Amino acid sequence: MNSDPQPIRNIGIVAHVDAGKTTITEQFLYLSGAIRSAGSVDKGTSQSDSLGVERERGISVRLSTPSFIWRGVRVNLIDTPGHVDFSAEVERSLRVLDGAVLVISAAEGVQAHTETIWEALRKAGIPTLVFVNKLDRIGASRSDVLGEIARDLTEEILPLQETTDLATADANLGLAWSAETYQASQEVELYKQIIESISGRDDTLLEKYFAGTPLTFAELDRSLANQTAACEIFPVLFGVAKKSVGLEYLLDGIVRYLPPPQGSDDKPLSGAVFKIDYDKKFGKVATVRLFDGVIANRDNVYNATKGIEEKANQIKKVYLQKYEEASCLRAGDIAAICGFTKAQVGDVLGVGDSVPKPMSLGAPLLTVRAAPKNEADYPALAAALQELTDEDPLLGLEWLREERELHLKIMGWIQIEILEAVLRDRFGVEATFENPAIIYKETPSRQGFGAERYWMPKPCWAVVTFLLEPGERGSGVVYESNVSVDKIAAKYQHEIERTIATALRQGIKGWEVTDLKITLVEGEDHPIHSRPGDFIIATPMAILNGLVETGTRFLEPILDFKITAPEELFGAIASDLTQRRATFDNPEFKRGKFEMLGKIPAATSLDYPIQLSSRTGGKGKILTSLSGYETCSPEQGVERPFRGISPLDRAKYILRARKAL
Ligand code: GDP
Ligand code: MG
Repeated sequence: MNSDPQPIRNIGIVAHVDAGKTTITEQFLYLSGAIRSAGSVDKGTSQSDSLGVERERGISVRLSTPSFIWRGVRVNLIDTPGHVDFSAEVERSLRVLDGAVLVISAAEGVQAHTETIWEALRKAGIPTLVFVNKLDRIGASRSDVLGEIARDLTEEILPLQETTDLATADANLGLAWSAETYQASQEVELYKQIIESISGRDDTLLEKYFAGTPLTFAELDRSLANQTAACEIFPVLFGVAKKSVGLEYLLDGIVRYLPPPQGSDDKPLSGAVFKIDYDKKFGKVATVRLFDGVIANRDNVYNATKGIEEKANQIKKVYLQKYEEASCLRAGDIAAICGFTKAQVGDVLGVGDSVPKPMSLGAPLLTVRAAPKNEADYPALAAALQELTDEDPLLGLEWLREERELHLKIMGWIQIEILEAVLRDRFGVEATFENPAIIYKETPSRQGFGAERYWMPKPCWAVVTFLLEPGERGSGVVYESNVSVDKIAAKYQHEIERTIATALRQGIKGWEVTDLKITLVEGEDHPIHSRPGDFIIATPMAILNGLVETGTRFLEPILDFKITAPEELFGAIASDLTQRRATFDNPEFKRGKFEMLGKIPAATSLDYPIQLSSRTGGKGKILTSLSGYETCSPEQGVERPFRGISPLDRAKYILRARKAL
């Protein structure tokens, strides 16, 4: 167990955008006394949305980790971004959570993104409280929203409060599950259901119940906490966040039902970097969740992802967007650490044994080129994008210094808009994003050889021949050498092996080459002329020559999808899908709706959520996740020009490569 005397909860508030996360966070900080007045997302004064762009747009795109104390428990709140395009950040924040509050608007109900988040929470096994917000909104209905939760998320829900005057400005809470009202309320329907539900899942309580032994509130509530921690039941709480209705009860629920972090100070170090910030005073600050072990000030900490050690110069607890000095970070806790200059979001610290595996909610599907509006801003833009890539490695900045080109990978259109705003507000750089394109890959069409004799202009000597063979879908790159170290010395063979991945970054259609086997079948070094680096220069030329020989086919990203929509629209939607080259299973019809699973190319479906929503008046939902890459015809793919100098442009390439070594 955690040896810190103060109990901790690491909690995330997750929801579809606009459900009320930021408002709830503000109210939590206010109610706990961490701030004197609750800011408002509508007035742009919220404390937890630290970025100008969030205030402007009223949505949270970056994580913030305020902490506060509630009934002696320190709650580290990880406010996750709400937008679908930022699911990578949701994913990263999920793995540092011990519990979550899923916010659902009583008026809008369960949205497609709510289902995506729910599935991710269940995959990650994170105990969850459901908070039904906005009881005051027109259209708010208790039975509708509970029905949707039961239908789309889980039937294992347990409402803990009565509600009154829904869909009016007087919307409020009635009787709630609590020790104070327990004795007097045994005959109330709400209590009967709660007691039955809890004891129905607990054999010890069930026996007592049938034996007629009175059950105490304490034993029922403890059992509810255990069942919640085991993800067997999901308590449902209600409120009007904007008016601070139901939030104290929600806070009580968090400390009562969501579990404390597991982990031990005495075990080997295991942690994860889940946020990177740049502070004017402290420079780069890494926010770390420690699962096991202790990091003390000035410790050298092993970053397993980067394979390096870095010193923890300063450890700071984040308390309301301000840093407070701490002497150490213990198992189960979260802190900001200065001194990890190479750290990126997602890095594993220490042995990493107890760091939960990252899950995949999304993968970048698009590539775009970033350009400064004003050419003089080019260095500032490059530096800003490098910084953003540290925070979100999925952005995968590709910086072609000689060509002065910047390429990024993104998840969707809205991310472009947000990036523009972030660059402007945080970095003072105006940038545009050009040529958004689906990220294709390529794979050899047939087998063939690729050779290169790099022995001019002297001094140099690297002779290689590779056999390239198509591999199975999803097999990636397999490399093997059949050449003995007598012909090519081991140190040069290592050079070749290391260069394969770089050489495959761009094939003859301009995309990453994958699903192939490469075998080094012939070659030689030269005892006098060969120098270190010669094989690094020769390998990409040989491989590109080989790809010209084999030809390549496009691989396109394919998404798994699940559609739910009113059954009378089945025909129209099925025909949409066919036109978009989708394949699908037989639909399942229930309660006036149909549900259907299938696969659809990313290229034909990026705009479909919007079309589906307008076709169905908002009643249709599509959930997608990357399924994998599959071949498509030459007409369905898009070639892109080689970025940088192609190894096929031999003379130029050699000159450039020599200069770079
Ligand atoms: P987030 O996108 O999930 O962070 O949601 P916000 O906290 O930014 O809230 C979105 C909008 O809903 C804002 O205009 C809030 O004022 C409003 N809002 C939040 N809670 C309530 C509520 O209980 N009732 C009503 N009517 N509006 C609310
Ligand atoms: Mg927000």
